[in-house]
Amino acid sequence: MERYDVIIIGGGPAGLTAGMYVARARLKVLLLEAAVPGGNAALTDRIENYPGFPFGISGPDLMDQFRIQAERFDLQIKMSQVTGLEVTTAGKKVVTPEGAYLAPVVIIASGVRRQELGVPGEAELAGRGVSYCATCDGPFFEERKVAVIGGGDSAIEEALYLSTLASTVYVIHRRDQLRANRTTQEKALANPKLQFKFNRVVERIMGEGKLNSLLLKDTVTGEKEELPVDGVFVSIGMKPAADFISGLTLRNGYIVTDEEMKTGVPGILAAGDIRYKTVRQVATAVGDGAIAGLTATRLLEESR
Ligand code: NAP
Repeated sequence: MERYDVIIIGGGPAGLTAGMYVARARLKVLLLEAAVPGGNAALTDRIENYPGFPFGISGPDLMDQFRIQAERFDLQIKMSQVTGLEVTTAGKKVVTPEGAYLAPVVIIASGVRRQELGVPGEAELAGRGVSYCATCDGPFFEERKVAVIGGGDSAIEEALYLSTLASTVYVIHRRDQLRANRTTQEKALANPKLQFKFNRVVERIMGEGKLNSLLLKDTVTGEKEELPVDGVFVSIGMKPAADFISGLTLRNGYIVTDEEMKTGVPGILAAGDIRYKTVRQVATAVGDGAIAGLTATRLLEESR
């Protein structure tokens, strides 16, 4: 089993920041990432509220800069899905399909993934018109009609991005007010390609082999409507990516930590969106990652 000083699980803003801090302390550190480095931020078309980029920056470009900076300090990144984390007498054992790794300190920065709607037709038509990532799948829907479900920052940002490709973007929201921040809301409400369907929920996603339409229900009148669309982007919030975690204190599925990012288990830290907290932004993930990196470094120095 390969041994490291620190293993980081997850390569989003928190994991890459923690990795940069630990690598800069000249410790042997491995970051394991299941998909592409950058996490959800790398799937965001534009990021306008990360300081230092007054005119905004594309999510993939920003996260590329994070990765390049961390790798400059010799952070080792491997693409691998973590399936288990065990506390053993030899250290923390991080299990992946390709093998296991050992380290005295582990930082969990596995983040969040998209929540499914849970309506009939959704699972059957996933990848056949039903998507959870506009920047990934949006280009398939050029000059087509699409719908975005949700009223938060992610949904409205995705609707704005899709408006650059699709002919019409329906925004289907269960209330009569959006949750997204004011600036994004103003842009969306002024965009002629966006059509808002407030007070509506999706009851069923319909199509044979490929998406044809959505069955919507008006939450005020109870009236039902069939809305023909070629694509639907579900953006109704996130759930913790914590399938491999056991033995830690969780609240609503998220890991509880103290201000130093320590969980209740010595040597296991958590940082970023996977933590139980109220604000989930790239900026707050970076703060968590820096603290976790410094805590990890201090724990190792104290044990020597
Ligand atoms: P979110 O803020 O939790 O919004 C989820 C949206 O989906 C809400 O409008 C919610 O409706 C709706 N919803 C939830 N469950 C639903 C269901 N079963 N059926 C229909 N609609 C449902 O999630 P998010 O937009 O993914 O954002 C997650 C976090 O990341 C937030 O803290 C957000 O601020 C942050 N974020 C920030 C930025 C940015 O700052 N640029 C960008 C993206 C994300 P209600 O409004 O009725 O609850």
